[in-house]
Amino acid sequence: TQELLLNSEKLTIAGQLAAGIAHEVRNPLTAIKGFLQLMERKMEDQTYFGIIESEIDRIELILSELLVLAKPQDVKFESVYLPALIEDIKTLIDTQAIMNNVEIEVGNTVGPITINGDINQLKQVFINFLKNAIEAMPNGGSCIIEMKAIGENKVKIFFKDTGDGIPPHILKRIGEPFFTTKENGTGLGIMISKQIIENHHGTVHFWSDKKGTIIEVILPLQ
Ligand code: ADP
Ligand code: MG
Repeated sequence: TQELLLNSEKLTIAGQLAAGIAHEVRNPLTAIKGFLQLMERKMEDQTYFGIIESEIDRIELILSELLVLAKPQDVKFESVYLPALIEDIKTLIDTQAIMNNVEIEVGNTVGPITINGDINQLKQVFINFLKNAIEAMPNGGSCIIEMKAIGENKVKIFFKDTGDGIPPHILKRIGEPFFTTKENGTGLGIMISKQIIENHHGTVHFWSDKKGTIIEVILPLQ
């Protein structure tokens, strides 16, 4: 346990560093982007602008994922009623899901499931999982979300998709920073989600076969 504790503390410091860098880099990057757009209007020769802009967009995507790991002073723990949070997220992501022929279904919820947490961070975790599910179902499918209280003081949240699944050699590596199998992936979603769940004193497990993937998150109830 000692080693486990040390490990998670190390992760948190790495996460804080990443978040700090993301915050610091964002402002100068925004300035660069603004001046680039001014230059673009003045220059006759438009070669390279497209490339520079798409590379800046790529940096912004990576920063936006890292920025979810807020500075510790910005993390605000409050009472979160999970079923309401899940409904919010479903609304947020439904357009993207429908466009991809994916049905997101919220199963039965049992019990008053309220946890203590940072709403924005928790939302981001569940959005990351649902985005990955949608991306794993290029030909459509479904993702079911279920919540149930277990024991006296915990809640289990399942995400079950009917996607391509994750082969064992990849399953071993997901959550490593920058590990992605996607052409435009950042490989940061799961790492950041794991970190946030740990900061909420929870755990996360992944199971997968050719029929799809199951993610199980366990969090302490309030
Ligand atoms: P990214 O989505 O940018 O690739 P993530 O950290 O979110 O980064 O995911 C890492 C990798 O884990 C993905 O590239 C993909 O190979 C795999 N993965 C994650 N979730 C799923 C899922 N639901 N089904 C299949 N593969 C998944
Ligand atoms: Mg992802």
